[in-house]
Amino acid sequence: MTHACAYSADRPARTEALLHAERLCAARGVRLTPLRRRVLELVQSRTEAVKAYDLLAQLSTEDHAAKPPTVYRALDFLLEQGLVHRVDSLNAFVGCNHPDTPHAAHLLLCSQCGRVEELHSDTMDAAIAQTVAATGFFAHHARLEVQGLCAACAASTRPARRA
Ligand SMILES: [Zn+2]
Ligand SMILES: [Zn+2]
Repeated sequence: MTHACAYSADRPARTEALLHAERLCAARGVRLTPLRRRVLELVQSRTEAVKAYDLLAQLSTEDHAAKPPTVYRALDFLLEQGLVHRVDSLNAFVGCNHPDTPHAAHLLLCSQCGRVEELHSDTMDAAIAQTVAATGFFAHHARLEVQGLCAACAASTRPARRA
């Protein structure tokens, strides 16, 4: 099974995602503090990956007394709870649309518009696991970050190249 999952930054979807995060944290007995909630909201409001210092800049214009360690701790919490994913190659973060179950999220990164999509593929996971195991290496986890153009950007740049 393979499917790509685009982040939706429209308001109803964001509100629903935040409510879902609240319910999830309540069920797990962990606290989604106002700052953690606001950081999550800021990450979810974008379709592209967000860097920690952008979050800091935004938060410093608001009421939150957000110092770098506070924001990093909030991000660590959100990562632990699976509510956001780290984009290693960009040193940035994206929201996760299905935080209920832990999963290896491969990421498709558009170099033109910055859009990030999550890719889930059992076939790919199995192929990576098998290929790596064959070398004798014992993998804890494997996650791909694929650079390129999203479908919309690819469609809009192709005619220009032909012209
Ligand atoms: Zn995810
Ligand atoms: Zn794009």
